[in-house]
Amino acid sequence: MKNFGLNIWGDDNFIIDGDTVNINYASKPSLLSITEEIREKGYKGPLLLRFPHLIEKQISTLFNTFAKAKKEFGYQGNFHAVFPLKVNQYPNFINALMEVSEGYDYGLEAGSKAELIIAMTKTPLGAPITVNGFKDKEMIALCFIAAKMGHNITVTIEGIGELKTIIQVHEEFNQQSASPIAPKIGVRIRLHSSGIGIWAKSGGYSSKFGLTSTELLEAYEMLKEHTLLENLWMVHFHIGSQMGDIAPLKKALREAGNIYAELKRRGATALSAINIGGGLAVEYSQHTATQERNYSLNEFANDVVYLMQEIAKSKKVDEPDIFTESGRYIAAAHSVLVAPVLELFSQEYNEKCLRPKEKNPPLIQELFDLFNTIKRTNAREYLHDALDHMESLLTLFDLGYIDLEDRSNTEILVNLIIKKAIFLLRNEGSDELKKLQDRIQERYLVNFSAFQSLPDFWGLGQHFPIMPLSHLSDKPTNPASIWDITCDSDGEIGFDRNLPLYLHDIDLSKEEYFLGFFLTGAYQEVLGMKHNLFTHPTEAVITFDGKGNHHIEHLIEAQNLMDVLDDLDYDTGIIDKALKYRIEESTLITPDEKRELLGKIYLYLSENSYLKTIQAISESTQGENA
Ligand SMILES: *Cc1c(COP(=O)(O)O)cnc(C)c1O
Repeated sequence: MKNFGLNIWGDDNFIIDGDTVNINYASKPSLLSITEEIREKGYKGPLLLRFPHLIEKQISTLFNTFAKAKKEFGYQGNFHAVFPLKVNQYPNFINALMEVSEGYDYGLEAGSKAELIIAMTKTPLGAPITVNGFKDKEMIALCFIAAKMGHNITVTIEGIGELKTIIQVHEEFNQQSASPIAPKIGVRIRLHSSGIGIWAKSGGYSSKFGLTSTELLEAYEMLKEHTLLENLWMVHFHIGSQMGDIAPLKKALREAGNIYAELKRRGATALSAINIGGGLAVEYSQHTATQERNYSLNEFANDVVYLMQEIAKSKKVDEPDIFTESGRYIAAAHSVLVAPVLELFSQEYNEKCLRPKEKNPPLIQELFDLFNTIKRTNAREYLHDALDHMESLLTLFDLGYIDLEDRSNTEILVNLIIKKAIFLLRNEGSDELKKLQDRIQERYLVNFSAFQSLPDFWGLGQHFPIMPLSHLSDKPTNPASIWDITCDSDGEIGFDRNLPLYLHDIDLSKEEYFLGFFLTGAYQEVLGMKHNLFTHPTEAVITFDGKGNHHIEHLIEAQNLMDVLDDLDYDTGIIDKALKYRIEESTLITPDEKRELLGKIYLYLSENSYLKTIQAISESTQGENA
């Protein structure tokens, strides 16, 4: 996995160029150089880099692929798409999304009142807005207001109760009006078929959402009775996110297509669109063995267009417009989280940390000899001897026969011998060696929070591609597990022998080493938790000008400590006073020192929670070793 699976998950968005991973676009800057540029401005800690050109790429690919499929089949309906806001509502993302999608008539999907407000203000008039999820009267009223602003808005009915409210709001809003204005209406259908995978709870009979056949008939009658039937124009379903297999989608399409045709033949003449929801999968895997998606976008588009055409033909109705609400597919690739490695934990097992004595205990002296004379022909035997000696030496320590320095020498020597043996026997690949290798994995302490930046890893075990930003022409040899800086053992991405991640052996006192976490643009940001009060990282938007040069824009620094506390509704005025008071009243320090401490504390309060430098850390470990 020398290229860290880039050929599997990378989609040609990045290339390895010599030592670094570069953006495969325009002037092809390296992620490392962009990171360094931002850090030079004084921003430390993890950085979330956004790339609008990658949003544009996904949107244009989606539209072009459907245009091609439509042409191939001679399909009469139109293709439309909206971005579901729940996937990423951050302004730096949404503003970029709206900018790059100009010309596609691309709209937004909202699932809550706050999201609806974003949609009402950011969607250009005429571009579609769809509104899904549970709604109260106020939210439905907002949909009517949007329609009266001139928005092309469709409100999806998730249940009969909502329809009753829509009818009520319609009467209130349009009572006096000669030409009533109401949003378009969609019906979410409850499918027989359901999705698969860890997110598949949105489809199927037991799903939270949608109308059964009986309710559909009831809704039809109600709409007719209240002269809203001509507003019914969309049938909607969503079978779940990260749909790895295409088969459930095809089943859902047949079901939805037939419901569309049946309603239309019944008399819903305005009905003319099928909204297939989201679910287009993203390939997150770094290993061929665990690829997550068994179809291409081409296949997906062809299936949708073909099946809709077939059903329309056989039931003799018009081919419906096709809507998608794919979010993950549009947003995932656009951002990369870059996080500095703070420490490598097994660097303590370094030769220079040994403390040989004038006269070492005999078993330890033997370990020294094994370490100095191990070679390919004796490696396996020496390895076994070393492991055996370690058992004995640890027992001797428990019984009080050797001291702490001896024990430290034992640990270091045995680890060094295992490392050497693994290296010497690397072509044999035995199970024993692999197990030993797991034991000597390096622990990379990384300046980020998995809870904040990769919540789906924490909650669902979702894998995100990880690779270092530099050293890419050297073979990485350390089996790596990654620790975040929260005080929670769940904040660890453990080494998995079946899907191994190897990183480089780096001396962090000499150079910095950054890891990139890729495909983090969908869902991770707003799902991120402030565990330990680590907040949304510092972010920046990377754009390219006509000459191909990149620019760092819209930098937003992670919240400072006081803002974090303010968000939790602490009275920061009181906190501020308490800190000042405690320093001023302290009998342990002089007035000069007080001034200095106050200055320091105000500086720290203006900064964010993430750790600032690696220097402080490597200095302190060196201090311990010295
Ligand atoms: C979540 C959601 C989507 C987006 O799904 P993705 O898997 O991100 O494409 C689309 N439509 C509805 C109704 C949703 O709830």
